[in-house]
Amino acid sequence: MKADIVTIDGPSGVGKSTISRRVAAALSFTYLDTGAMYRAVGLKLQESRVDLSDEISVESCLKTLSLKLLPAKSSSDDVGVVLDGLDVSREIRVPEIAMVASRASALSVVRKKLTLMQQEIGKKGKIVAEGRDTGTVVFPNAAWKFYLDALPEIRMQRRAKQLRARGKEVDEEELLAMIIKRDHDDQIRPIAPLAKAVDAHVIDTGQLSIDAVTGKILEIVR
Ligand code: C5P
Repeated sequence: MKADIVTIDGPSGVGKSTISRRVAAALSFTYLDTGAMYRAVGLKLQESRVDLSDEISVESCLKTLSLKLLPAKSSSDDVGVVLDGLDVSREIRVPEIAMVASRASALSVVRKKLTLMQQEIGKKGKIVAEGRDTGTVVFPNAAWKFYLDALPEIRMQRRAKQLRARGKEVDEEELLAMIIKRDHDDQIRPIAPLAKAVDAHVIDTGQLSIDAVTGKILEIVR
């Protein structure tokens, strides 16, 4: 039995968040940003100064994890996150935390914990889940799976624009190097790597507008 879940996976800066939010709104489904959960865990581990090579310490730090996702304030905003009672919505959206999230996300204790939380959220159905492994590992029985891709340079430009819009200074070369490294690490990790599900529709978003990609996905789902 297929679940009424849409999964949208792919590397960073491919337009996944905006597209997933729009698809969810058009279908009246709940949007599940799994990356926000990995970012929040990365922030918690960093703030607790946990050595990521020590899985026992990571596990014990996560025992007290409390995560709450808040709906985006507007259609152009990311979802918010409350971590252990504190709103960390802004703190988690910086490239440094994305890198920590990527390192933390390779650990099996982290993946097990977040995958279970995501599957719990998915139980009620009508979900658009966005991430790296939502079609392959978290919701393998999702009815509609998509994998978005684009060249790293194009993705870097999109991320740079987003960061500048938030008033951040951007070093494009450094940002490109971070994107390439993060995607590479996400692809080669042994557990739940970034990968296309065999039954996913692959869309290259490089030359397509957000509206065009959203339209394609909705056409397939409907
Ligand atoms: O999507 P976003 O850039 O917010 O994700 C941050 C990091 O979290 C990714 O680079 C990846 O390492 C990790 N992640 C993951 N699995 C997911 C979602 C995100 O490993 N389903």
